[in-house]
Amino acid sequence: MISLTGIHKYYGEVEPRLHVLKGIRLDVVQGEFVSIMGTSGSGKSTLLNLLGCLDIPTEGSYLLGGRDVSKLSDDELSRIRNEDIGFIFQSFQLIPQLTVLENVQVPLLYGDSSISENEERCKVILESVGLSHRLTHRPAQLSGGECQRVAIARSLINDPLILLADEPTGNLDSATGQEVLELMATLHDQGRTIIMITHDQEVALKAQRQVRIHDGLVIEESA
Ligand code: ADP
Ligand code: MG
Repeated sequence: MISLTGIHKYYGEVEPRLHVLKGIRLDVVQGEFVSIMGTSGSGKSTLLNLLGCLDIPTEGSYLLGGRDVSKLSDDELSRIRNEDIGFIFQSFQLIPQLTVLENVQVPLLYGDSSISENEERCKVILESVGLSHRLTHRPAQLSGGECQRVAIARSLINDPLILLADEPTGNLDSATGQEVLELMATLHDQGRTIIMITHDQEVALKAQRQVRIHDGLVIEESA
């Protein structure tokens, strides 16, 4: 489903540019749950941004579902970001002014289904993450774990091919983090492809396969 070869990423225009990724090779097949570990500043988020088509590599090839991402138009890339990829962030990235139900609806605003259809879909997804009783709350009225479950519901609303999670438990206490991980494991059991960044070894072991970024390269920890 995902195939990266020879991926380099530099930041900056003037020399010396910052060389963050130095020839990444990574393949992820459909239905895999992969964790990416690495020290702070090793390029984990940089890699996830490339995988999520939020940024482009300086060099190298990225095939997503067999298509060369570098050859896609901006419209096609934004369609992929909205429909094919679900994003989950450490800081949840919810919109504070919107209710739980409205936050989950945001990715549907670009589609052409009716408001009542959208609401129905959001309610079903929110029920699946155990939040039916919080539909009209705003993020400030929720616990961290509940916020992350709203963000997970939002990431699922367009039935994405891939879920990308950047330190999804990073802002949560360990018990709440565990609940969020259980939810991710359930999504994996349901057939989702998941790539999750973490710096926590224990969290990483929840995934099926662990890779590590070191010196700008990916090292497989287990197969
Ligand atoms: P990690 O997520 O593993 O902590 P990042 O991918 O966020 O690491 O960052 C890798 C390196 O690239 C860091 O040195 C960081 O400061 C730098 N970096 C990240 N994003 C940018 C950017 N947009 N512009 C310039 N430098 C960046
Ligand atoms: Mg990061």
